[in-house]
Amino acid sequence: MIEIQDISKSYGQIQAVKNLSLNIRKGEFYSLLGPNGAGKTTTINLLGGLFYPDRGSIRVNGISIQENPNAIKNWIGIVPQEIALYNELTALENLRFWARVNHVSKQGLDAKIHKVLEYMGLADRASQSISKYSGGMKRRINIAAALLHDPSILFFDEPTVGVDPQSRSFIYHIFKDLRAQGKTILYTSHYLEEVELLSDRIGIIDHGELVAEGTFDELRLQSGLKEQIHIQFKKISEEKLEQIAKSPLLSAKSNAHGFVNTESCNYVGSNRTEDLSRLVQFFAEHQIAIEQIEIKPVDLEQVYLHFTKVDLRD
Ligand code: ATP
Repeated sequence: MIEIQDISKSYGQIQAVKNLSLNIRKGEFYSLLGPNGAGKTTTINLLGGLFYPDRGSIRVNGISIQENPNAIKNWIGIVPQEIALYNELTALENLRFWARVNHVSKQGLDAKIHKVLEYMGLADRASQSISKYSGGMKRRINIAAALLHDPSILFFDEPTVGVDPQSRSFIYHIFKDLRAQGKTILYTSHYLEEVELLSDRIGIIDHGELVAEGTFDELRLQSGLKEQIHIQFKKISEEKLEQIAKSPLLSAKSNAHGFVNTESCNYVGSNRTEDLSRLVQFFAEHQIAIEQIEIKPVDLEQVYLHFTKVDLRD
């Protein structure tokens, strides 16, 4: 459905995207993850035809975006990272504006606007100025604007940044519904729990290059990480923490990411039995009394850290 072949894009000296190839299938929910500045927004903007790659090709439904951008724009809805709304206008007026920009037919336009407002749970606020909206409500209107022309492909660039938990949960259910409708979705987000639940496949990019790709289970296998061992212990002093945090077991783990504080330790590893016995022995040697041990499968955040070595929220 979307074939990206070997694209590169630079801004002067900065190479934002390097030889990137991706294939997004029809009806797939594909998440693109990467640290700040990895090239996610540039990729979305290239796919949306906002500018062209320096090299490589992008085809949507077999049609080249460089050769026939207008044919493709009708199929695509883009929700940008920045809220693209006029504060002094009402929600209705903003959506009429976006309808004009996206060449939505004037026929039955108010009915279409009403439908998307209803879908986004804001029908009763249609005539209110956007300046009175909360951050979460603005995000919902931002999404509504992209849905007006009923596109089959949607690009979401961090659509829940700065959103209150209630709106985030609402928007999460919208994503689930759009996915169930069979829309093809490219999504970027810093909320990895949501990415894990929603995605069919995940691509991880760093410095403009794809470093890993697959379903969450495939990525987990590729990382070699299996479980996280959470150990709760009797509170220790800051001096003792400093001492144990320097130990090779808890600090210099080549293939894992963990943390230790004065009350607990989270260890991410690949061999439950060995890891557990080493940890228990370690705490016994340091005369630290273990109170509770919990073992859980690794989550996307740890797998992501394995590939990028950078916290997504840094
Ligand atoms: P974030 O998570 O912070 O949104 P990102 O993964 O979306 O980051 P991009 O915004 O695509 O990354 O940026 C990739 C690189 O290109 C960064 O080094 C960024 O500083 C640079 N860059 C992006 N837009 C421009 C621009 N208009 N002019 C110059 N450099 C740019």
